[in-house]
Amino acid sequence: MIIVMKPGCSDAEIKSLTLRIEQMNLKAHIDIGEVRTVIGVVGDTRSVNIDYFSVWEGVERVARITKPYKLASREFISGHSSFPLDGVSVGGNEIVIIAGPCSVESRTQLLETAQAVREAGAHALRGGAFKPRTSPYAFQGLGEKGLELLAEARNVTGLPIVTEVMAPEDVPLVSKYADVLQIGARNMQNFPLLHAAGESQKTVLLKRGIAATIEELLMAAEYVLSHGNRRVMLCERGIRTFETSTRNTTDINAVPVLKELTHLPVILDPSHSTGNWQYVGAIAKAAVAAGADGVIVEVHPNPENALSDGAQSLKPERFSELVSQLRLIAQAVGRSVAVSAHAGQSV
Ligand code: PEP
Ligand code: MN
Repeated sequence: MIIVMKPGCSDAEIKSLTLRIEQMNLKAHIDIGEVRTVIGVVGDTRSVNIDYFSVWEGVERVARITKPYKLASREFISGHSSFPLDGVSVGGNEIVIIAGPCSVESRTQLLETAQAVREAGAHALRGGAFKPRTSPYAFQGLGEKGLELLAEARNVTGLPIVTEVMAPEDVPLVSKYADVLQIGARNMQNFPLLHAAGESQKTVLLKRGIAATIEELLMAAEYVLSHGNRRVMLCERGIRTFETSTRNTTDINAVPVLKELTHLPVILDPSHSTGNWQYVGAIAKAAVAAGADGVIVEVHPNPENALSDGAQSLKPERFSELVSQLRLIAQAVGRSVAVSAHAGQSV
């Protein structure tokens, strides 16, 4: 349920409500808006009569949230949630571009890619150190060594780091190096991992599961939010369908649907959703045109020799061209691609 406070209500009024909510073994999540403060009350609220809170001092109205995802829903926060990622406000008017290799393979490969995506205008560097591979015989990632290389790439380029964490017990280690914790498609419903990411204060990039519905994605986000972490961005990365001409099927519909259902930022991954570098540009542009708040794109200096996902990785020149095109698409839909704080930085 939500308790919408009157404009100008006092801190003491919010505090006494919060205390009462906690005494009832429920959790209060407070959203301080520009005009109004809203208290999201979560837990088993079935036996709570909404009239009970509506007469408390400072309360304007009380309503039940009808959706199963509570804190992620627009019924809790009607505007857009946004949070900073190195100068860009993710979920704001600007489009965020995250780019880099599928996997961190070596120092040379990572630094070369990092510098190229920085020069092209990316706002953050992606790269997996812990890789969720279908085959146990495939390259599994460099682990902590890969995280160290990512930290070095951040030092060199200034770009914040987005990297995957696969296990709850790895959240502290990955958080030491990462600016954004990626939770991959295969782990979207790894509930202990969502719990651990919810307790960390790092921004979370949550990818849609390979066969997950939009509602399941939002319920996964709810796990992170309900454990206290408000910085969640959702990522459409293609779903499995009967179609075999692409690796996955980009559910472009998910972008406007999610934007309607949730206040959380929504980005799209055109690399995993197509599996083919030739389609990446078209789908990245479609994403921005459809209202996505950003894209995450795989880039590799020698895709032919990549240890993972070479077929869907753009060469740096093509990525740079794509960024220029995304600027135009963004403009056409009343948005912009922020100029990266690091674009002109010498290294
Ligand atoms: C990745 O980003 O490299 C990745 C493994 O993505 P997904 O979880 O979407 O397959
Ligand atoms: Mn990949």
